[in-house]
Amino acid sequence: MFCNVLILIAVAGIPSEKVVEAHGTFLSTSCIKCKQPQPGPEVKDAIFSDKLPRCRRSGCYGLVKPDIVFFGEDLPRRFYYYLRDFPMADMLLVMGTSLEVRCCLGLPCICISPFVRFAVLQ
Ligand SMILES: [Zn+2]
Repeated sequence: MFCNVLILIAVAGIPSEKVVEAHGTFLSTSCIKCKQPQPGPEVKDAIFSDKLPRCRRSGCYGLVKPDIVFFGEDLPRRFYYYLRDFPMADMLLVMGTSLEVRCCLGLPCICISPFVRFAVLQ
């Protein structure tokens, strides 16, 4: 389902700066120790070779993972930052969620106007 949403976004031509991915993305990777972005193809190759992807930054050697949110991790700052736009929204599209996870469950309630068009695409 996650990939279907990514395909919809790509086909629609929505610029990446207009998309807020609440649970992160598989499209980028970073070091969990120093947070430095890492080359995605190298991380993918390491994982598919049963190796632990490690940070390329000198002296770090931290583990590298896709920039997705695992259980127990906080959501990206970008998610919280753009919540402030909700009261000004004329229309809100929430894609790839069943609205059962707490962070997404309350999204419709943040819109102040009862006339906001709200669509959820699972
Ligand atoms: Zn690092």
